[in-house]
Amino acid sequence: MEVLSTIDQVRARTARARAAGGMVGLVPTMGALHAGHVSLIGAAVADGCDALVTVFVNPLQFAAGEDLDAYPRPIEADLAAAQAAGATWVFVPGDGEMYPQEPLTTVSVAGLGDAMEGASRPTHFAGVATVVTKLFAITGACRAYFGEKDFQQLAIVTRVAADLSLPVDVVGCPIVREPDGLALSSRNVYLTPDERTAAPVLHRALVEAADLIAAGERSVQAVRAHIEARITAEPLAHFDYAEVVDPTTMQPAELALPGVRILAAAQFGIPRLLDNVPTDPAGTSPAIALSTSDLEVSTGDRAPRRGGRDT
Ligand code: AMP
Repeated sequence: MEVLSTIDQVRARTARARAAGGMVGLVPTMGALHAGHVSLIGAAVADGCDALVTVFVNPLQFAAGEDLDAYPRPIEADLAAAQAAGATWVFVPGDGEMYPQEPLTTVSVAGLGDAMEGASRPTHFAGVATVVTKLFAITGACRAYFGEKDFQQLAIVTRVAADLSLPVDVVGCPIVREPDGLALSSRNVYLTPDERTAAPVLHRALVEAADLIAAGERSVQAVRAHIEARITAEPLAHFDYAEVVDPTTMQPAELALPGVRILAAAQFGIPRLLDNVPTDPAGTSPAIALSTSDLEVSTGDRAPRRGGRDT
């Protein structure tokens, strides 16, 4: 595995790999790698790609007062994790490499980024879409692997690739969870022991909501109210939002029909945690069967969704 720090290095390596008939699998991350990130690298490798993992804490997607400076940066552990997962290259640019001057050109996706995370973090998705577009431009034709954990982000990135005709196939990968259902996140390290015990309520509430829909509930309000009540009943949780959306357009669903996606967020002390679950389009129960193994891909999630320029 090779560690790269400049855009020119990345361009040279990826162009050479493509010229030799290879396929590049881009895995953008902000580091502090955990099994969720590793699953994305594993998916790229399993698809036969040369995996290019990027580790860049993108200042553009943090607002003033957010945790940019405090964001964990365990680079040695990240390199070891990327190597163990089979990465070919890790790109670790400095801020000056990515933003040698204040960017006057940014990317924003009308509509998709306004609600949910966008409502709480109004500048966040323009920062994400801009850095991801830059990474696509730097990498060239590739598959790009993103987690369904950040479902709204996945929808936005998929739309950017499609709208701008970028030569990128966006691949969505299922959420990796702790045995008690908590979605892995680099921000979970901020949880106190009591908050860590409380945090799985977020996923439980979502799974119960999906079960309500599987049982015939069609009222979006009832589904959202159930999630809010469950999270609000947990004293260490501060409910933020619950939404029922069309999984492709991210628009609020009028009816909670099977196939909708359910998303929620809540604050537990310092970290704001996000989660989401699919509902089965066939209308059967996605009821969770918590794993006996240490880490498990959520049983509610389906196989990787592919999107990008073809969708
Ligand atoms: P981040 O480093 O938080 O920006 O995340 C980098 C990528 O890893 C994004 O595509 C995330 O959606 C994905 N990711 C983060 N946590 C998980 C998880 N628990 N399961 C699957 N993918 C994840």
